[in-house]
Amino acid sequence: MADCPARTVERQGLAAARLDRPADEARRDVIGSGIAIQDVVKAYGQFRAADHISLDIQPGEFITLLGPSGSGKTTLLNLLAGFQKLDRGRISVDGRPIHDIPTHRRGFGMVFQSYALFPNMTVSQNVGFPLRMAGIDRETAERRVAETLDIMRLSDHARKTPSQMSGGQQQRVAIARAIVMRPKVVLMDEPLSALDRRLRESIQIEIRALHQTIGSTILFVTHDQGEALTMSDRIAVMDAGKIIQCGTPTEIYRHPQNRFVASFVGESNLIDAEIVQKRGTTMTLKSRSGHVFTAESRNAIDVGRASVLVRPERIAISGEPAPNSLPATVTSALFLGELLRIEARTDGGETLLIRCTDVADRPLPASGDRLHVRWGANDCWVLS
Ligand code: ATP
Repeated sequence: MADCPARTVERQGLAAARLDRPADEARRDVIGSGIAIQDVVKAYGQFRAADHISLDIQPGEFITLLGPSGSGKTTLLNLLAGFQKLDRGRISVDGRPIHDIPTHRRGFGMVFQSYALFPNMTVSQNVGFPLRMAGIDRETAERRVAETLDIMRLSDHARKTPSQMSGGQQQRVAIARAIVMRPKVVLMDEPLSALDRRLRESIQIEIRALHQTIGSTILFVTHDQGEALTMSDRIAVMDAGKIIQCGTPTEIYRHPQNRFVASFVGESNLIDAEIVQKRGTTMTLKSRSGHVFTAESRNAIDVGRASVLVRPERIAISGEPAPNSLPATVTSALFLGELLRIEARTDGGETLLIRCTDVADRPLPASGDRLHVRWGANDCWVLS
């Protein structure tokens, strides 16, 4: 390297890269930072864009902030990046408070929706820019740029300028530039939202693979629940400046805490019912039409009225009543090949969406047919 590794480390602040290692080794050896966000508040006048947020992010974790527009995702990312100041609370990285460290010395990699590339520079120059700013020697910088272009499959485009590249390629250049210093933390704010669906899906897979390769902690912002489920180790679901629930994609999808999370993540059927008995995590409920069924939940709930979540793919249909079944009338049925998409109205008045696999020789349900919808106790979840 690097004439003076210690100075480079100093210049790059908390998340300095180890640029003095051989390329292959350096590809793998970043251990991302742990981040502790404690009781953070950011207000604009009376309005709290971040309202007492606490979140512990593990070293090397891929964590996604997911929420509707205006829920405070970008605000939280900006507070971490240092673009905005906290009104209250504390953010620490690897145990050290970062409030007094300016953005450029936090050493985070950053990727935004707009690629923000320098139009007159080639791809190599764009990617090498942070190395130049950090005063990294030319040989090390060239090696690191080549290696990063290789990771992002951009080597063939090294001499192009941004205007000669597609949107997806430009975003990959922006990501390459963000990781070229091997930051311990990478912040990504809706980086894929300007891309079409197919491209988005392929770059999602690339970012996920990249995360495995470089080992940085990644904080990713999106309002796209599919993206969050595919990419994250954990998802923090936000609404109105608060984190409503934080958990793995399966926890969030299968065991949401409340109606907001259940409706925001995935397709959901919410059934009104009354909890008539509670034994451990198993509850006996009575539907509006008076049918009794059982469901699970670890949410803190008392007997009384409740909402029960059943995902469309967990519902089976049959002609005969069975335990845990409700009578319903088909209101629409679509044959989608391997799947049937059925809407049915229960006798209690709830409209249910059902996605079930096609079965050979079973006649397709039609509007007006009476049937029984059923599920296992484990397939439904009582919300708090
Ligand atoms: P989106 O997905 O639309 O980007 P978001 O979840 O990232 O939304 P934020 O950008 O964090 O939401 O904004 C949260 C709330 O704070 C919004 O209601 C927004 O209008 C408000 N807000 C953000 N920045 C400012 C500001 N500088 N002045 C006043 N209000 C602001």
